[in-house]
Amino acid sequence: MLRLDQDIKYLQGVGPHRAELLQKELGITTVGDLLEYYPFRHIDRSNFYRISDINETMPYVQLTGQILSFETQGEGAKKRLIAHFSDGTGVIDLVWFQGTKYISQTYQQNQPYIVFGKPQPFKGRYNIAHPEIEKGEGRPLPLPYPVMGGSGYLFSDEGNSQTTIHLDTDTYQTSPIPRREGQGGGSSSPFRPIYHTSEKMKKRGLTTSTIAKLTATLLRMLDQPIAETLPQYIVERHHLMSRDEAMRQIHYPTSSDSLRRAQARLKFEELFYVQLNILRYARDRQRHYRGLVCSKVGNHFNDFYYNHLPFPLTGAQKRVIREIRTDMGSGRQMNRLLQGDVGSGKTLVALMCSLIAIDNGYQACIMAPTEILAEQHLQTLQRQLEGMSVRVELLTGSVKGKRRAALLQALLTGDIHILVGTHAVIEENVAFANLGLVIIDEQHRFGVAQRAKLWQKNPTPPHVLVMTATPIPRTLAMTLYGDLDVSVIDELPPGRKPIQTIHQYDRHRLSINQAIRKQIDLGRQIYIVYPLIKESEKMDMKNLEEGFEQVQKDFPDCKVSKVHGQMKPAEKDEQMRLFAQGETQILVATTVIEVGVNVPNASVMVIENAERFGLSQLHQLRGRVGRGADQSFCILVTKYELSNDTRRRIQIMVDSTDGFEIAEQDLKLRGPGDLEGTQQSGMAFDLKIANLAKDGILLQMARDTAQQVIDDDEAETNPVNAILWSRLQELRKTNINWGSIS
Ligand code: ADP
Ligand code: MG
Repeated sequence: MLRLDQDIKYLQGVGPHRAELLQKELGITTVGDLLEYYPFRHIDRSNFYRISDINETMPYVQLTGQILSFETQGEGAKKRLIAHFSDGTGVIDLVWFQGTKYISQTYQQNQPYIVFGKPQPFKGRYNIAHPEIEKGEGRPLPLPYPVMGGSGYLFSDEGNSQTTIHLDTDTYQTSPIPRREGQGGGSSSPFRPIYHTSEKMKKRGLTTSTIAKLTATLLRMLDQPIAETLPQYIVERHHLMSRDEAMRQIHYPTSSDSLRRAQARLKFEELFYVQLNILRYARDRQRHYRGLVCSKVGNHFNDFYYNHLPFPLTGAQKRVIREIRTDMGSGRQMNRLLQGDVGSGKTLVALMCSLIAIDNGYQACIMAPTEILAEQHLQTLQRQLEGMSVRVELLTGSVKGKRRAALLQALLTGDIHILVGTHAVIEENVAFANLGLVIIDEQHRFGVAQRAKLWQKNPTPPHVLVMTATPIPRTLAMTLYGDLDVSVIDELPPGRKPIQTIHQYDRHRLSINQAIRKQIDLGRQIYIVYPLIKESEKMDMKNLEEGFEQVQKDFPDCKVSKVHGQMKPAEKDEQMRLFAQGETQILVATTVIEVGVNVPNASVMVIENAERFGLSQLHQLRGRVGRGADQSFCILVTKYELSNDTRRRIQIMVDSTDGFEIAEQDLKLRGPGDLEGTQQSGMAFDLKIANLAKDGILLQMARDTAQQVIDDDEAETNPVNAILWSRLQELRKTNINWGSIS
């Protein structure tokens, strides 16, 4: 009998070598892991294409016909075997570079075969390299051909051609009550599952068809039904497939309909447990932790509001401060996400909320992602609090020795009211007298697990405010920050002119420089940003250096600063300071300036190689200008040849200044795993099958269901839910990010 927790190496067809490869490349160690390694696409084996109909847009085709003749070409390492294959409508070349002896011995001319693979144009013909090939016997002979329409041969969750069908949640909703369909598994399915494999796996023979063989074997050997992981009432309420059936159907569906339902079931389950975990955590936190009561609005707040406010608050700022004030005074611990586009004035909100904490006898702490930003916050706060008796200090990794000791002491005695720092503040051994409020600025990695660490800071956990300008699409926010209440600043300070965004090709350097010159003559400052990523670091640095030299030549009368991540922090800060204080007119930099930097006199943001940035990142960078009352510009510089996709992305930037719209588009175009700053945020991207860009409706369903379970079964003792709490426990053991939430 086969058990799901059994080591994968004992599965027939695996063995120690493949087991090691599966573990290294895909993290598969047990039989159950393999079962949860879902195919990303299926091919309908009952449908065939005509060779004469093949075109470049087809990701895969299935053909039926005969080998007319074999031919060997090339010498030595370049030697290859070619089979000229025909179905009567045309000829395609099947090509093998390896294993040619086996192929020529196994396959014969004038026998019916079914061939499957990716067609590629080559010298006016198509060929398929290393196709899958099997005997055509036992199937209806291909002639005359069924005429293929544009659909029906390929079911996939990746939208890359019109013949690709992906799960459509609307379809899901109207799908009928589950009926027992024939158990999927191996040969009874008209579909062939396609699995992602790495280069390394392919090289060592672990191809998609090998994996398909393994999953087929596995399902055949599972004589017991796969255990259900959702309570029956949830399965029924949402017309879900049973887990057993879904697991079989997801690999070897009996119809396209049942494939969709299997996907929906597994996606729902996945999203449901993520939501159950996060909502349960939010509930527990409310139950276990009483909040520090900050009910007073006292002298500090009022003095600031009436005597020191640098400008009238916007309506949105007022509303948000009210929301936060209510939270802080409620006796419950506040956990709030403050979303506000770049330049919407979140810093001022942070300051005023800190004053509420101080008025109630508590300290506040503001965490920024970089030292530069932390210093900038310190300066802003000190400037705005001038003349008031509020002590603000900075603690970063570079504050050392006696100064550090004195600072830590003053924190302990409560002499410091607001501590500004990098997130080292929270990790290192820093103790507060009475920490009442933690504000986390622009740290997208600060997901639920990271925030959970904060509670250990104080016997009663402080109120927490997470501020972000990277607009997060709703589905992502629900997953990453699903336990938080949300406030939104949806209004920019008055008098801001929308930034004008222009797309320019890099060969039009002259007109780019003219635009810069105009602004410099008006006394404005200029950012020029270069991409820098690990994979092409050397080349990127060279581009930046060359760009820096060229700018100095093109603008000989200007002082130019340079900032990049490989500089020493002190040097970097010095260059930033020069630019911020207007002593240099142009700043050439990598994306270290991406988040939060505030130089209102800067009016032009030039982004070189803009095609290499993500949309959200471009939006962030653009947000560095347009902070004063003057018209600002963002120039997106790209090479001339752009893919359609890139052209579309650049156009979105030119057309829209709405961060939320851009974030939604970005999510759609690139998928959540690639979103800026979110890569390491953990659980949102451990998703095996659900897709936050596409499964919004399922996510909402999953969240509502999870919320209901939590409300109805507060003690977690209702026997109908037993299955669910033990499953959650299990998942928390295997998922590090979940496990650290407690
Ligand atoms: P972000 O939300 O991106 O952190 P900041 O807090 O840095 O934005 O504010 C952007 C700019 O807007 C700063 O120069 C700030 O002084 C200014 N600002 C903030 N609030 C207002 C307001 N109510 N009226 C006018 N300017 C404001
Ligand atoms: Mg900010």
